[in-house]
Amino acid sequence: MCGIIGFTGKLKAQDVLLTGLASLEYRGYDSAGIAYFKDTGKISLRKTVGKVKDLRAICDDDNNSTCGIGHTRWATHGEPSDINSHPIGNGRVSIVHNGIIENYRKLKEFLISKGYGFESQTDTEAVAKLLDYNYDGDPIDTIIRTIADIEGAYSLGIMFREHKNRIFAARKESPLIVGKGNGEMFIASDVTAIIEYTREYYLLEPGEVADITADGV
Ligand code: GLU
Repeated sequence: MCGIIGFTGKLKAQDVLLTGLASLEYRGYDSAGIAYFKDTGKISLRKTVGKVKDLRAICDDDNNSTCGIGHTRWATHGEPSDINSHPIGNGRVSIVHNGIIENYRKLKEFLISKGYGFESQTDTEAVAKLLDYNYDGDPIDTIIRTIADIEGAYSLGIMFREHKNRIFAARKESPLIVGKGNGEMFIASDVTAIIEYTREYYLLEPGEVADITADGV
């Protein structure tokens, strides 16, 4: 179980995410990645096996996105590889996950029967695809229906392409905090990742879902 960071505000999200991930390095990990909203409204990804410095090396200096999620992975399902690194998802939804989804095989079989393809060996991809399957235009409703079907320990950072510059978060057992700054908001698995920006934070309760914009939660 490793690290999660998310940011929405006015700063360059990439800088906040990479700094946050670097501060979580002490926990140990095998890969790292970020997803962020582009001006076009699409979600872009950078992810790689290796260290945060390897991730930084494949990021663009001129990335001006102000909202994104980041992850350091400690592989539990599937080897450390670029494909298995988080964020994981498709054109519509992108997620970062800490923990283990115990019933992912069953979920995967169900989703394959509905026509979904899988490219990673992670348990996480079953959650990403289930979010896509359940998506009804209302992110909170979609997340509530999805977490009702997943078993295990998890904390999740989620972005939907249709909801630009918003981050959603949910957790059960694995920790996740929502940090509040001045016109900016954060999520993190550990306060170390955001302490440079704010000391005001809230520990999500198991089963709670957070809907986060730059102005509030
Ligand atoms: N179970 C997930 C995976 O293997 C997440 C691992 C983690 O917590 O870093 O990708």
